Amino acid sequence: MNRNIGTRLTMQFALIVALILTIFSVSIYTFSASYHKSEFYSRLKDKARTTARLLIEVKEVDYELLKVIDRNAINALHNEKVVIYDFRNEQIYNSIDEDSIHVSTDLLDKIRLEKEVQYFQGEYQVVGLLYTDRYNRFVVIASAIDKFGNSKLENLQWILILGFIISTGFAFLFGRAYADRALKPISNVLKQVEKISISSLNLRVNEGNGTDEIARLAITFNKMLERLESAFEVQRSFVSNASHELRTPLTSIKGNIEVSLMKQRSSEEYDEILHSILEDTQNLIELSNRLLDLAKANSDISEISIRKLRIDELLWETREWLTNRKSDYKVSIHFNDPAFPENKLTLLGNDHLLKIAILNLMDNGCKYSSQKAVDVTLSIEGEYIVVSFTDEGIGIPGDDLKNIFHPFFRAGNARKMAGHGLGLSLTDKILNIHKGKISLVSELNVGTKVTIFIPYISI
Ligand code: ADP
Repeated sequence: MNRNIGTRLTMQFALIVALILTIFSVSIYTFSASYHKSEFYSRLKDKARTTARLLIEVKEVDYELLKVIDRNAINALHNEKVVIYDFRNEQIYNSIDEDSIHVSTDLLDKIRLEKEVQYFQGEYQVVGLLYTDRYNRFVVIASAIDKFGNSKLENLQWILILGFIISTGFAFLFGRAYADRALKPISNVLKQVEKISISSLNLRVNEGNGTDEIARLAITFNKMLERLESAFEVQRSFVSNASHELRTPLTSIKGNIEVSLMKQRSSEEYDEILHSILEDTQNLIELSNRLLDLAKANSDISEISIRKLRIDELLWETREWLTNRKSDYKVSIHFNDPAFPENKLTLLGNDHLLKIAILNLMDNGCKYSSQKAVDVTLSIEGEYIVVSFTDEGIGIPGDDLKNIFHPFFRAGNARKMAGHGLGLSLTDKILNIHKGKISLVSELNVGTKVTIFIPYISI
């Protein structure tokens, strides 16, 4: 990853530098070319004007003398030629006796009309001017090659090309070093992460200065590791707790069978042993049912069947199921508000799972109180259906409250009653998958109130 991003950053950086340099170089070259061109035209114009003035206005200078002056001029331009025409289009002066400048009558007319014309003829720059004195109008044409300017431009071109190559090269090298430096913390984090495996989930990534993006990444990653570690821990203890819970009744069954096989027993003794085995087996069946329910409650909401249910029906049906099996249990159901809003009693959920949750809470209320009674109250709060299960039982010791939703946890004062410590954690999970929540308040030897919240759907 580091290499790819690093190379990409370097390339982008070098490309941007190259682009800026190209724009810069092209502008410099264009400005300087145009400056040289116009400077050379103005020198040509000067030349044309001086030649015409000497020939036309200075009496002492004639054709031959002017030629001599032209040829010997110190600051003559390269391959310089000057020709002068009078108003009859007749050539009255030619600095080099040969017709290397092609002058048509059209061009002469154009110069007379526009007073000044500039153009390129091959590598020659040509300037045509209208020169007037008191009596006559002349056309002066001067041409020359800007050798000096061209070589200066060529020089500049090479400097710019070389500068471009060297600067882009440097940009690439510096960009590479810079990108490597900028990405180093990421590769450091990567190296540390690579060391973390399932057996070393306790390791943490260095959080650096704790403020920049990389540090935030490391902090987020560490938090995730913490969650993973505790999830693994829960899983591990769950498996060992489950095995322990399964082993206890199995050991007891094995012990009973071994005792009965040691010698011949009376039919009463066999009866007693079989009853004890039956009780252990029932216990095992109940535990495996709970574990199955827990597995189901751990699944995703999309994997279980969901339909519209009425909370009041769920409560009444569960109450009936429970009191039929445990006739000494007293479950009373109240509606908080006599004019209860009928349209807020419906929810979306899984019938089987919700009944398990309600059954757990009703059963606990009765199981952990000497009166074997629980009070169930139904109300509406905001967008939730709220059901509370209140008993006046043994309560839960303050220290145990924080662990009460952990699987297999049982409070110190509840050990005498039957149970596996799976009911509350199962109920919590069931509410979770129904987008609901659970809260529990309890006071030792006073009573317990468990409240569940499930969102209703308006009908
Ligand atoms: P179980 O009842 O099978 O032990 P639960 O998960 O339902 O498992 O409950 C976990 C523990 O919480 C119980 O062992 C008990 O200590 C405590 N508890 C739950 N409900 C009550 C209650 N209504 N009154 C007193 N203690 C309770």
